[in-house]
Amino acid sequence: MKKVVIIGSGLGGLSCGVILAKNGYDVTVLEQGTQVGGCLQCFTRKGAKFETGMHFIGSASEGQTLHRLLHYLGVEVKLSQLDPAGYEVISLNGKRYPFASGRDGFIDSLVSQFPSQRGNLERLWEIIEGVASASSLHSLKHTETDAAVNTQYQLRSINDVVEEVITDSVLQKVVVGNLPLYAAERDKTPFSTYAFVMDFYNQSAYRVVGGSDNIAKSLVKTLSKYGARVFTHKKVVKIDCDATHATGVTCADGSHYDADIVISDTHPARTVEMIDSPLLRPVYRKRIGKIPNTIGGFSVYLRFKKDTVPYMNYNFYGYNQKTPWGCENYTPQDWPKGYLYMHFCDEENQRYARSGVILSYMRMADVERWKGTEVGKRGADYEDFKRHHALRLMQNVEKEFPDLMGSVDEYYTSTPLTYYNYTGTEGGSMYGIAKDITLGPAARVHHRTRIPNLLLTGQNINSHGILGVLVGTMVTCGELLTSEELFNQVVNG
Ligand SMILES: Cc1cc2nc3c(=O)[nH]c(=O)nc-3n(C[C@H](O)[C@H](O)[C@H](O)COP(=O)(O)OP(=O)(O)OC[C@H]3O[C@@H](n4cnc5c(N)ncnc54)[C@H](O)[C@@H]3O)c2cc1C
Repeated sequence: MKKVVIIGSGLGGLSCGVILAKNGYDVTVLEQGTQVGGCLQCFTRKGAKFETGMHFIGSASEGQTLHRLLHYLGVEVKLSQLDPAGYEVISLNGKRYPFASGRDGFIDSLVSQFPSQRGNLERLWEIIEGVASASSLHSLKHTETDAAVNTQYQLRSINDVVEEVITDSVLQKVVVGNLPLYAAERDKTPFSTYAFVMDFYNQSAYRVVGGSDNIAKSLVKTLSKYGARVFTHKKVVKIDCDATHATGVTCADGSHYDADIVISDTHPARTVEMIDSPLLRPVYRKRIGKIPNTIGGFSVYLRFKKDTVPYMNYNFYGYNQKTPWGCENYTPQDWPKGYLYMHFCDEENQRYARSGVILSYMRMADVERWKGTEVGKRGADYEDFKRHHALRLMQNVEKEFPDLMGSVDEYYTSTPLTYYNYTGTEGGSMYGIAKDITLGPAARVHHRTRIPNLLLTGQNINSHGILGVLVGTMVTCGELLTSEELFNQVVNG
């Protein structure tokens, strides 16, 4: 039985573990934190639960891609569907624009506000569907992958395509109103990223009842069913290598795990820090160090007074400017330029929200001066900084949701430093390595490394988000099982 050691218990690490354990490998997952899950982690304060990363998922109705993938991985969680008449609501220039589920729903809901744009929206949707269905891993259909479709839309920016197809200047902005979900940047982020996200959530959108940590817990359960082990408090500090291969890993507590195969689910910048072998060339290390990452985030977690805030069954995107683009280019004076506001789902048919989150962009540079300080002991100035930003953010949301602040019993915050500490993501980045068409292949990280039995997985390899990470998992595990075999296993249940 081949021994696989997986570094990190994020979605990527756990799902690779399940696939390999199911296929007869001896799997051990090592997690540095106290909780498994990475961005699937939740925390609880005075009875209210909060998700720190994953807040909603798509394509999870029976027969849809994520439903099939979760079934294959043995994930059993309760889901609560977001409003099909408007699972996302974009607020721009004082007007609200819902995104309705399904192709026709999406087009019809926008045509009611932009009557001249029906044909253009149909064309946009045709391109989105074309890109999503040309990828057999995203659609789980045996497609004759249309390489031309994929390449074209991986090389063109979102704004380039959207502004060519949609001729109304307001609608051009509305259709990208949920771009904080993938931290898109103008002229940089490929249209394919937009297409995958739009197609994924448009098919169906759900919250995980009781929190996204239930996905992690369910994956751990499947792992133990197949005899795999998951250990927390195991920070890997070294990937041990001989002259040709990785031989195992060493943890901060001195424990050592032998391995035939090592898979790292950590940010590649963290992975290269664990390797001092000459097998990894300096040029690779340098490249990893230079690759740009998506921006970090500042979150305000709201614990509401009992039965005061009706549960909001959609995600709300607010902007303090006329466009969703460019929110990452803020100054201390004009922050926040935009935000995403969501409620947590504790139970099916929830009437009142117990908790919610407001999320806005924040650069690591803003909190860099507290790097190296300990969580919970960063000092009064850090607390002041967080309080100041939390109030600014809540005041902004209150413009759209009057009395919000009066409904909040207590609030808690996180910054890019929090994410850096809890998951090791470079620069506190929300979604890991950024896709940037201006940088080409130099900005991509391959799942294979020059160490033949060291593979990479997770959001930095393919794409972030539940589908992006699981597609990456299939690519990584396909290296050991063959992609065809894995594809057949998933498709045939
Ligand atoms: C604020 C926010 C909101 C999001 N919202 C959504 C959403 O609504 N829907 C969606 O689909 N996606 C969402 N995402 C993205 C999604 O959560 C991530 O893409 C995904 O969970 C990343 O999984 P991963 O396995 O790649 O990495 P991670 O979750 O970062 O896991 C990496 C793991 O490795 C561990 N680790 C690091 N170094 C070591 C070491 N040396 N030794 C041992 N362990 C180590 C870390 O502790 C961590 O547990 C969101 C992300 C963020 C940050």
